[in-house]
Amino acid sequence: MKAVLSTSILSPEDHEIAADALSSCVHCGMCNATCPTYQLLGEENDGPRGRIYLIKQVLEGNPVSESTRKHLDRCLTCRNCETTCPAGVPYSKLLDIGRQVVEQKSARGFKENLSRKILRTVLPYNNRFAPLLTIGRVFKPILPARIKTKIPRKVAKGKTPISEHKRRMIVLDGCVQPSLSPDINTATARVLHKLGISLITQKKAGCCGAVSQHLSAEDEALDFMKKNIDAWCSEIESGAEAIVMTASGCGAMVKDYAHYLRNDPKYAEKAKRVSELCKDISEIIATEDLTSLAIKGEEKISWHPPCTLQHGQQVKGVVEKILSKCGYELLPVMDQHLCCGSAGTYSILQPEISKQLQSNKITHLQQNKPSMIVTGNIGCQTHLQEVSDVPVIHWIHLLDK
Ligand code: SF4
Ligand code: SF4
Repeated sequence: MKAVLSTSILSPEDHEIAADALSSCVHCGMCNATCPTYQLLGEENDGPRGRIYLIKQVLEGNPVSESTRKHLDRCLTCRNCETTCPAGVPYSKLLDIGRQVVEQKSARGFKENLSRKILRTVLPYNNRFAPLLTIGRVFKPILPARIKTKIPRKVAKGKTPISEHKRRMIVLDGCVQPSLSPDINTATARVLHKLGISLITQKKAGCCGAVSQHLSAEDEALDFMKKNIDAWCSEIESGAEAIVMTASGCGAMVKDYAHYLRNDPKYAEKAKRVSELCKDISEIIATEDLTSLAIKGEEKISWHPPCTLQHGQQVKGVVEKILSKCGYELLPVMDQHLCCGSAGTYSILQPEISKQLQSNKITHLQQNKPSMIVTGNIGCQTHLQEVSDVPVIHWIHLLDK
């Protein structure tokens, strides 16, 4: 696609990324076939090809309308289109740039600004989110249904093993996961302990930055990234083997730290090292000998691969292999490549589309009568549990028996 991008609205680095992305798009439209919003809404501008064209117009210096922003807001950032695209167009990087410019050139209304600000002020901070969740649980019976369904039941954290192995890995607690499902990281610690690996948490590390990044607050996102890098540096220097992610949404983000901080003279190298060391828990488990776990799974389960794992990180088929090896029967699930509608803050900001995707997804996941649904991202887990008849859990629990 030919584009004459405005140099006045883009930094030289963003100009290069956007020009490369736009010139590699051949406008074939194959990506539309796997785009969840295009499938639901049937509108060219709600598919990747149309959005790319809208971003091109914006970056060429054309006026930004409310309609442009609406179509970009409706994008789930699921990156399914990147998996499908035969030309390798880096859609999400182009979208990041497009959203930044659109945000500057088109003012949102008071209500929209307020809800986005509240999300940015609460979600990334566990010390703010945790008390609000506790209050929400107390008043759950009298809350409106749409809020009530978003408050999951309390889960016990479980025991963290005392573990002093030579092999050490860092784990990210993240922002909302310690409150919504604190048992995930303790289960991970127990599984890795049995495999001869100690899991270390750095208390100063926090939100990965994805919430701010997806809400177009780039500077805020960069601050979260730098804070995490600073928190992990000493453990990395003293030999931590990996930075383990138990939420694939955070994993996709941390693997991109190298990209986001590539031009920062102080952090570029450190960010590169952090991104190299970042691994989804499935990538770690897949390379270990699992005989010491002695798992004999018998349940029939449905696996939901989060978009941030299968499209964002391009980690495919890994969890399936681990669970099959441990004896679990993975039932066939239709349209496994499609998003469940959670997508970070999407379920709050775009409730109608999110609900439709959630409904389609749960129908497919429950079709073959699983005893449970397993996934690898806290956002998908809580979103699917809202409407599921069977438990929805992180797959690592199946190895923690
Ligand atoms: S599939 Fe790739 S090349 Fe084709 S329209 Fe979509 S982004 Fe462009
Ligand atoms: S990221 Fe997902 S929702 Fe957005 S254009 Fe690509 S496939 Fe569609």
